[in-house]
Formats: sequence, C-alpha cells, structure tokens
Amino acid sequence: MKVIVASDPSNLPKLVSAAKSLSPEVIEAVSTEEVSVPVDKLLIADLSLNDCWTSALSEMEFDLMLLPSTRDFKEIGARVAARKGISYLSDAQELELGGQLVVSRMVFSGRGVERLKTPLPAVLTVDLDAFEPISGTGDPSEVEELKVDCSPRINLVERREREAEVDLSKAEIIVSVGRGLKKKEDLEMIRELASLLGAEIACTRPISADFKWLPEERHVGMTGVRVKPKVYLALGISGQIQHVVGFRDAETVISVNTDPDAPISEVSDYFIVADLYEVVPKLIEEIRRRKGSS
Ligand SMILES: Cc1cc2nc3c(=O)[nH]c(=O)nc-3n(C[C@H](O)[C@H](O)[C@H](O)COP(=O)(O)OP(=O)(O)OC[C@H]3O[C@@H](n4cnc5c(N)ncnc54)[C@H](O)[C@@H]3O)c2cc1C
Repeated sequence: MKVIVASDPSNLPKLVSAAKSLSPEVIEAVSTEEVSVPVDKLLIADLSLNDCWTSALSEMEFDLMLLPSTRDFKEIGARVAARKGISYLSDAQELELGGQLVVSRMVFSGRGVERLKTPLPAVLTVDLDAFEPISGTGDPSEVEELKVDCSPRINLVERREREAEVDLSKAEIIVSVGRGLKKKEDLEMIRELASLLGAEIACTRPISADFKWLPEERHVGMTGVRVKPKVYLALGISGQIQHVVGFRDAETVISVNTDPDAPISEVSDYFIVADLYEVVPKLIEEIRRRKGSS
C-alpha cells in the first residue's frame, strides 16, 4: 500500500505517525520545506494556494492520502477526491486496515464515535489532536523537488497575521467564565483572580462571539479552542456539550454555579453550588492572605 501525506511542514510529523499506524509499504510526503521525517520520499513544492495544492495532489497516484484536518486541507482533500472520483472522509482519529479501510471519528460533539468503512483509494483528513508527532526516527530516504503547473483561479490578495494574544492549549491553569457573569466590567475581578493563580482567562462562546467581552481565541469548545490544563475553573458556565468538549482532557475541573442541576456538575471533580460573585472575591482574599503570609 502507498500512502501520501501532505501538509505544511509543522503538521507532517503527526501525519507520518498516522500513516505508520497502518504499516504501509511506502510512505511519501509532500510539503513546502524540508522536514526531518522517516518517509521513503519527500517531495518539496512551492505551494501556498489551495488551487495549487489541489492540482499537485490530484496528479499523484496513491492508495491513501492523509491531510491535516484544517480548514484549508479539508477543502483541498475534498477537491482532490472529487477530481479523482474516490472516497473522502474528514476528521479521522483512528485508522485500521481490515480488507477495507476503517476510520473512527467523533460524532455528536464528542458524545459518540462512529466507525466508517471505505474502499481504497481514498483521501482522509486527520484530527491532529489524535496523533503524537513521530520524532527522532530519521530523515526522508530521498528528497525531490516537485514542479507544479498551476494557474490558480483564486488569488491571494492579502494575508495579515492576527496578533494572537494567547495560546490557551498550553495553559496549565484556566479560569473560564460564562453567562453567569453579568457585565463586562466584572471581568476585572476575574482578571485579578487569574493573575493571582497564574492562570489564563477563557470563556464560553456567548462571552466572545455574542457579547464580544473577550477575543475569539479565548473561547473554549467545539467551535473554539481545545484545552488540557491541570485545573479548569468554570465560573457561571452551564456545561453544554459544545463547551465541555473543549476541556474534557483537563486534569481537574472545578465549577461554580448557582444552579444545583447545571449539567457541568456531571463533568466536574468539584462542583460548588454558589454565586460566583460571592466565591470569586473570597478566593481572591484568601489567596492574597496566603501569599502575604508566605
Ligand atoms: C453549533 C454550535 C456550536 C457551539 N460551539 C460552542 C463552543 O465551541 N463553545 C461554547 O462555549 N459554546 C458553544 N456553543 C453554545 C453552547 O451551546 C451554549 O449555548 C454555551 O456554551 C452556553 O454558555 P454559558 O454556559 O456561558 O451560558 P448559559 O448556558 O446561559 O449558562 C450560564 C450558567 O451560569 C449560571 N449562573 C448564572 N448566574 C450565576 C452566578 N451569579 N454565579 C454562578 N453561576 C451563575 C447559570 O445557572 C447557568 O448554568 C455552540 C452552539 C452551537 C449551536
């Protein structure tokens, strides 16, 4: 079996891990720069636009093509599969070969897993959180330049880097707020608590998307960031599945909610039935007292 993995350089080590899980005879990689990954051949191409990636990848012969589950590669993968008239599946988390290819992926915001069977050849996009990067196992046996003949129909006019304030996926302690917070000004006490705890601030989608009290990169969940802190302190958050899926890998979840039946109680290690406006000032006072006395 021949597997082609294709992506920008940073995601290639995870895709190679995913490919190796099938023990194929041949793994080839396509990327825009040289990367140290143990593949039979690395093809380096000058690619940036989706149209050009699609043209380059559609020309290749393979049994299975693995791409990262990013917005751009989901589009590229679907177009490559359509051009070749082969199967396409997105967000694969586990791959098995048993006659046909069996792919597992999350459904219902993480409440279930579905297994799908597809004949080969196929194009898949892979959930990058589901695979560890392959490391320290060698360089490509061969490196070649790939010439791509591409006349894109869609051209890039401008790309501006956004100043991301924070990378929540690396935070060890997170103080997260939901609609239990009554007004934007009350974020001050949350900032104070976070600063005393050395924590990052996160939120539910309504707080960033609807109220615009915090930037988009701080909203946790299905349509936001996935986090895995040691402590996730959820203040005034009901615990809808679309939010919970974003912190399910947290080590300890502590939540404060006035409603004893709030669904977040089911996913909390410590569930405090209380008003966050009473709890937060008391926490700040107690941490200050302890810091002052240490
Ligand atoms: C397609 C889709 C995708 C979505 N993706 C996301 C996502 O990625 N992330 C996300 O967060 N949401 C997402 N949502 C929205 C999600 O369904 C919920 O609506 C949202 O998470 C609820 O936010 P919340 O907990 O802040 O608000 P609410 O559900 O309104 O909960 C507020 C909670 O605060 C409690 N409370 C009120 N006052 C206090 C107080 N003084 N002290 C303590 N507790 C108090 C209440 O009892 C309640 O439980 C998505 C929805 C859809 C349809």
